[in-house]
Amino acid sequence: MNAAVCAEKLAVAPPKQPYRHVSGKTEAFVMTRSLTRFLPRSAALAATAALAATAVACGAPPVPGVSSDYSVTRAGDGHVLRWNPCATIRWRLDARLEPGAMPQVSSALNTLGSATGLSFVYDGTAAYTPQPNKWNQPSALVVSFARHSGAVQGSNYLSGAGQIGEGGWTASGTSQANIRIVEGYAVIDTDLYNRSTGNVRAATLLHELAHSVGLNHAAFKSEVMYPMLTGVSPTFYAAGDLSGLRAVGSGAGCI
Ligand SMILES: [Zn+2]
Repeated sequence: MNAAVCAEKLAVAPPKQPYRHVSGKTEAFVMTRSLTRFLPRSAALAATAALAATAVACGAPPVPGVSSDYSVTRAGDGHVLRWNPCATIRWRLDARLEPGAMPQVSSALNTLGSATGLSFVYDGTAAYTPQPNKWNQPSALVVSFARHSGAVQGSNYLSGAGQIGEGGWTASGTSQANIRIVEGYAVIDTDLYNRSTGNVRAATLLHELAHSVGLNHAAFKSEVMYPMLTGVSPTFYAAGDLSGLRAVGSGAGCI
């Protein structure tokens, strides 16, 4: 594939859109946040897949990222909202719509664990679709493959308008000092996932799972946490992602 072809394909990159926090509210010692919008809603998925393939075929070098390019959420007293890294995080996989997903999800969680120092322990499968304002998760962390809002086995987190996934968390505590993330989720639009390249799938899982441990969006395309897929989207946690994951990880001690 020559440079002209690369340029042509990159030219179909969708316009930027502002970061969007799908929901987020703060109450007394209870905070929730749902984030994402990882695929451009305006672009056909085929174009997105072509972009991702282009990044590889054109030999785009890995972008190291910018170490300061990350965002986290803080409690009222200023501490970074994160899981207690001194306890294991039990998780379940809802793979009813994606029976072969376990290796990919497990790989992403291993990468996330290495980057954060958090310990994820598999609790088994679940038949559970995350929904906004639904609080009865079968495990602290749930990774689910669902359909878009309004479809059978749909999640209202997924718009169906090019959004490939969403991740978020709920934090609570008995005081501002010990408020911490106690539940998280990553929900993936299985239809878009299935039509995506391996690179897009890997980046999507890394992105949404990082949300589930408290990492917000980055400003630059060089990070996995950039809110949209682009022709240069990394398939690994780049420098800013890694800084942010350390900030929500075990380095800051027990909560
Ligand atoms: Zn996101």
